[in-house]
Amino acid sequence: MNRIFSTETVNKVGEEVLLKGWINARRDMGKIAFFDLRDKDGILQVVGVPSELDEKSNEELKKIRLEDLIELRGVVQARGAKQINPDMPTGTVEILAKEIKVINETVALPFEVSGDTREFSEPLRMKYRYLDLRSERMKKNLVNRHKINLFLRNYFSGKGFTEIETPYLTKGTPEGAREFLVPSRLFKGEFYVLPQSPQQFKQLLMVAGLERYFQIVRCFRDEDQRGDRQPEFTQFDLEMSFTDQEEVLNLMEEAMIKLVEEQYGEKNIMQKPFPRLTYKEAMEKYGNDKPDLRKDKNDKNELAFAWVIDFPMFEKSEEEQKLVAVHHPFTRPQDEDLEILEKDPLKARAIAYDLVLNGFEIGGGSMRIHERDLQNKIFEILGLSKEEIESRFGHILEAFTFSPPPHGGLALGLDRLVMLLQGEENIREVMAFPKTSDARDLMMGAPSTLPSKSLDEANIKLK
Ligand code: ASP
Repeated sequence: MNRIFSTETVNKVGEEVLLKGWINARRDMGKIAFFDLRDKDGILQVVGVPSELDEKSNEELKKIRLEDLIELRGVVQARGAKQINPDMPTGTVEILAKEIKVINETVALPFEVSGDTREFSEPLRMKYRYLDLRSERMKKNLVNRHKINLFLRNYFSGKGFTEIETPYLTKGTPEGAREFLVPSRLFKGEFYVLPQSPQQFKQLLMVAGLERYFQIVRCFRDEDQRGDRQPEFTQFDLEMSFTDQEEVLNLMEEAMIKLVEEQYGEKNIMQKPFPRLTYKEAMEKYGNDKPDLRKDKNDKNELAFAWVIDFPMFEKSEEEQKLVAVHHPFTRPQDEDLEILEKDPLKARAIAYDLVLNGFEIGGGSMRIHERDLQNKIFEILGLSKEEIESRFGHILEAFTFSPPPHGGLALGLDRLVMLLQGEENIREVMAFPKTSDARDLMMGAPSTLPSKSLDEANIKLK
């Protein structure tokens, strides 16, 4: 007999089936034992009646404990009207056990996984993440994350976009954060850098003539961790040629609306089309550039999307009071502000936009510069010397001499989007193996020291 999954039982009333899974709960009512079997798809109620089981199975039934892994042969029975549980996908049926075999026993778990594991300490959950992920809520977060990825993949593939992978071992790209360094073993004293985003690669794909690119991509930023930041996080990254802000915004907006309609039918988008505010309006009216436009912040089904547009090109950095790019230096200035770029850079506006949801920035992007001279001028305004420009960005300036098309795009922060759609308060809840808020992996024990041989090979001498 082939093993089936728990949710498949609902159409098999009267049939004998084979199931495999973990014991999620157990209730003994005199001689009869009820237990819940859990597999990847859900939870299923099982009834163990001694007279229906052979001797061996009766022994097993007495023994089995929470989280033991079992194999079960039984008959699917319809539940009586009063026993139906509408909150369970398998709530209309139960299994009358005929044979029970323990596949593998467990020792007592460090915490219970049959309910909402948020009641346990996060470090404990993270150390035993593989157990935490046994819980229904965590599993659902991962499965629905997968469905969001699938939706985005299909939606943008349908619009003529190609998914292309770009390197993780690369050279720094300026997105305003500190970068993770990877020492080169083969080239002593040289380093790769993990990308803060595939920004330059996706622009170079436009020079290549791919025209419509997307990628579900890991990005790395070595920042002091705060709140819901993670040293590695995932973007849905997109770039297109021969486009303008209007087209990019409309495309992404349509994708978001369709995603919510198809996969989160219980949720309401407050305003369609999404309201658009200029950066100036947002700052004046709400005092920040990611306003929360929900009417009732306690209503978990309200989704208030908004676009914030017309970001400034530059700002003064907090630490050094130096001119830095608000978005990144590849962002295109607005045509009418080209004149003031050098004279009054802080007044110049960019063709740059953020997508905001319920007070969180969930995405951002811009039209890009594709002219060599203008790009060079931006680097100069940012205070880079000729040598720095050449060594850091010579490749992209050269690429811009080979007839690049006008282009632009954006990236969504997938972790945040999934968090908000799943109604979670923290991106760690929607990542399979996140780091703690101080950037440790408590399960694997990373970061960790290394044997001196490994350091030697990587040409590293510790200070
Ligand atoms: N690379 C940008 C970011 O990571 C997104 C973009 O401009 O498309 O924020």
